[in-house]
Amino acid sequence: MPAETTDPAPLEVDYLVIGAGAMGMAFVDTLLTETDATVAIVDRYDQPGGHWTRAYPFVRLHQPSVFYGVNSRELGTGAIDAVGLNAGLHELATGDEVLAYFDDVMRRTFLASGRVSYFPMSNYDGPAEDGAQRFTSLVSGRTTDVVVRRRVVDATYMNVTVPSMTTPRYAVAAGVRVIAPNDLVGLTSRPAHVTVVGSGKTGIDACLWLLQHGVDPADISWIMPRDAWLFDRARIQPGPPAAPEPGGVEPDPALGSGAADQLIAALESGGLVMRLAPDVVPTAFRCATVTRAELDELRRIDDVLRHGRVTAIDVDRIEFGDVTVPAQPGTLYVDCTADGLEPRPPVPIFDGSRMTLQAVIPCQQVFSASLAAYVEASYDGDDLKNELCPPGPHPSTHLDLPKYMLDIGTRTRRWSEDPELRAWIGTARSVVRVPDDASLQTDEAAAFIRHALAEAGAPVG
Ligand SMILES: Cc1cc2nc3c(=O)[nH]c(=O)nc-3n(C[C@H](O)[C@H](O)[C@H](O)COP(=O)(O)OP(=O)(O)OC[C@H]3O[C@@H](n4cnc5c(N)ncnc54)[C@H](O)[C@@H]3O)c2cc1C
Repeated sequence: MPAETTDPAPLEVDYLVIGAGAMGMAFVDTLLTETDATVAIVDRYDQPGGHWTRAYPFVRLHQPSVFYGVNSRELGTGAIDAVGLNAGLHELATGDEVLAYFDDVMRRTFLASGRVSYFPMSNYDGPAEDGAQRFTSLVSGRTTDVVVRRRVVDATYMNVTVPSMTTPRYAVAAGVRVIAPNDLVGLTSRPAHVTVVGSGKTGIDACLWLLQHGVDPADISWIMPRDAWLFDRARIQPGPPAAPEPGGVEPDPALGSGAADQLIAALESGGLVMRLAPDVVPTAFRCATVTRAELDELRRIDDVLRHGRVTAIDVDRIEFGDVTVPAQPGTLYVDCTADGLEPRPPVPIFDGSRMTLQAVIPCQQVFSASLAAYVEASYDGDDLKNELCPPGPHPSTHLDLPKYMLDIGTRTRRWSEDPELRAWIGTARSVVRVPDDASLQTDEAAAFIRHALAEAGAPVG
């Protein structure tokens, strides 16, 4: 191997973006459109797309393609699916389509602009002694210093984890077969029984994949640590809202005690959110989005194990702390416990010479990254920029559903006060709509949600 070297002349750019995942790509795209800045992008992986490069083969977006990707380029064709469990709704790009799209954006938009340099297979090392930023090629070992005139943009902070990046966090005895969903497509013989571990979107995808391949529901068990409220994808489509606008629900203040539960019940009866089992009240909310047809499929699985998190799996049993349930020897376990929405402490997005990209609207990361670039280009001063772009941490519990409604309402009301920002959001890839008259959420509705959250012990600032 050649000795490690450092490039003699440092690279000079306006922005150094660390991470070519969906957020880094969305940020750079809007920055190029709104400014004449130069950008260097550094990423550990060999192609743009971040976690999509490590995804299971049958992954798809769970929100319509039209809402995803960079602002300057449509993802997909805007087609409506004619068949399958998403029939009648806007298409959902596959993982391969997402990767092909980001590759095309990188080559034909970013690199073709002459203003972007891209360094794949390179690790960002941090600042060097002289204040320059440094990264190192993971292949050649060559180190490059970058003089950054404006900001270093951290597009890695959300720390997305997908199953192929992790190993189970529970003990697995010898003789027990646990695979990532990535390996389902490599099966060469029928397993006696399959148990899907994890109730998030990946667990849902794995169950649907098994059912769609004709596995008898009686041969599937599903370990569900927490039931979650699920968005109905029919309500998250382009065009006029088909359900109560988020934040627009006007609860009855007379409801008094249990206000948060009443508020969630109103969202359920309004058709925005759904639950898997009619007799189980979900305690989680993770922004997962399904269709009613998918929910009907999932309900064919009867053996849903609701004992909390798995602590150990042995050949003939599964342990959930103090609870042990029998298991069929020879069961194939599909581990879907990676946390794609790791809770990250919110930090200011704009902070002197750095930016730390985070969701501004929870679960709308690409819109948020693009908004941050627009605000960076169009406004002066970090205080104002942070006021326009407060972080919206990932949701976890059911109480984060009312909080999500509140966040959308307060942010869109603030944005609607600025005609240019409102107009820009109207052109952005986003589920979020900002009405002209700031009517999305009344003061009374916001006050009620705050009351409901305070009463439930989850006040918002
Ligand atoms: C299965 C799945 C489906 C999803 N579906 C949707 C959807 O339908 N709609 C939607 O809006 N969102 C969806 N999301 C969420 C989504 O893709 C987000 O947009 C996600 O947060 C974007 O990823 P990111 O850019 O933040 O992070 P990542 O994709 O993780 O990218 C971060 C990048 O940073 C690089 N990196 C990290 N550290 C370093 C370092 N030190 N040096 C160099 N490079 C580094 C990594 O290599 C990586 O490429 C989905 C997520 C998952 C997991």
